[in-house]
Amino acid sequence: MTNLVELGKSGIKVHPIALGTNFVGGYNLYGDVNEEEGKQTVRDALNTGVTMLDTAFIYGPRRSEELIGEVLKEYNREDVVIATKAAHRELDNGDMVVDNSPEFLKQAVDDALDRLQTKYIDLFYIHNPDEDTPKDEAVEALYEMKVQGKIKAIGVSNFSVEQLAEANKNNQVDVIQNHYNLLNREAEKEMLDYTSANKITFIPYFPLAAGLLAGKYDKNTKFEDLRANLPFYQEDQFKENLDKVDKLIELARKYDEDVAQLVLAFYLTRPSLDVIIPGAKKGEQIKENMRAADIELDPKDVEYIDEIFKMN
Ligand code: NAP
Repeated sequence: MTNLVELGKSGIKVHPIALGTNFVGGYNLYGDVNEEEGKQTVRDALNTGVTMLDTAFIYGPRRSEELIGEVLKEYNREDVVIATKAAHRELDNGDMVVDNSPEFLKQAVDDALDRLQTKYIDLFYIHNPDEDTPKDEAVEALYEMKVQGKIKAIGVSNFSVEQLAEANKNNQVDVIQNHYNLLNREAEKEMLDYTSANKITFIPYFPLAAGLLAGKYDKNTKFEDLRANLPFYQEDQFKENLDKVDKLIELARKYDEDVAQLVLAFYLTRPSLDVIIPGAKKGEQIKENMRAADIELDPKDVEYIDEIFKMN
């Protein structure tokens, strides 16, 4: 059985493979969102042994949390770890601004509790840093929510290492969620040193580079959803990246796995990177991704993957 891992210093234990749910109700991100299919994917994940779901106010907006709240009622609440995020405040004209003010964040926790139809949220993140609010004050607001029992652990997302250090002045941050994958290893420069030294779990988003690192696209694949705008999908970069991914196909065969599982297993060899949130859309993909937690990579293969995707 796969060992569960702790989120920071929170005492909350989860399976290392969680489910990213930005496509569940995420009309603002994906063109072909089907709510029933989204809910079924969440059920498939929980029935397969995934214990943590990653959502956010902005997925939908609101709709991802609402749909997850509906599915949650079918399960024992304590068997599911819910992570959600907020920082976007909607203006009267529908535009979103980022707001980390204590007042806004505390209201955001209450609103998310309503949408998720639950009494507590296991992990609540500040989704993006704003320009004005001192980071420790923003975290202190969430700490108040923690003391009141409304949330159980505190996270930040899209924070630089300096912003994280400011946020973590009182050692209250359990998790950081930032962009990281084999095509963007920026976090390996300083961030993972800081998170390891401070017992903060680093959760990478876009772990499969939105599918590119799953080894199933070729030079002719076209994208009409959020992928059309991602840097690693732009013409020259896309071809270069596909060549790198091709090199993993043979290695994956050695483990009798697909490229996606190999890539996820590689991440779990990084310090403090203990949980991954691949955004699988199908039950089959979830089962495959879960296997990554049990792959023991030969250190020579870890070095080989490291070499192929070396940062400049
Ligand atoms: P991702 O996990 O890198 O890639 C998801 C895509 O990979 C899926 O849509 C699927 O593509 C493909 N895939 C997944 N498992 C596969 C498998 N076993 N075999 C083949 N293909 C597989 O990207 P993401 O879903 O956009 O990001 C993951 C999560 O990160 C999100 O759900 C969200 O929770 C979080 N996130 C957070 C932030 C933030 O600011 N904090 C930003 C972005 C994302 P197909 O659909 O083509 O099958």
